[in-house]
Amino acid sequence: MSEVTITRRLGIDCGHALRDHLGQCHRPHGHRYEVEVEVGGDISTGGSERGMVMDLAFIKEAMRDVLGKYDHRFMIESRDPRGIPMSDVFNDPDDQPVPGWGFVILTEFPPTAEMLARVWGSLIDTEVRERSDGRCSVVSCTVHETPNGRATWRA
Ligand SMILES: [Zn+2]
Repeated sequence: MSEVTITRRLGIDCGHALRDHLGQCHRPHGHRYEVEVEVGGDISTGGSERGMVMDLAFIKEAMRDVLGKYDHRFMIESRDPRGIPMSDVFNDPDDQPVPGWGFVILTEFPPTAEMLARVWGSLIDTEVRERSDGRCSVVSCTVHETPNGRATWRA
């Protein structure tokens, strides 16, 4: 357990739909996801990060690497029967004004706040560990799906 942790927050806009949910999130809609990543590790004793757990700018970079792929896109589970036709239409390279414009992300999991916290937290953890040569790691990742609802993955 780290004595000190640091936290960076980053927001993205993303849509989703949940195949099995018998509530409003069954229907395609969007959220402003506010994501908080908490990083722990021994405080650095030398170099430009002396006195820091990790440079917060790097955590922002790692979060942008991972979360940027989802920003202004739409997540739907690959096994959701609505997903494939949606992907065929909106990811069709012949029907895009610029390359890479397709915006439907087919996930292998239901894109709930809980699953996103785990998947995004794990991916960011890999980058944080590599960058710090194993000195630092993600302690938790919290995904705020609404102002009043959030899910937290603890590593
Ligand atoms: Zn939702």
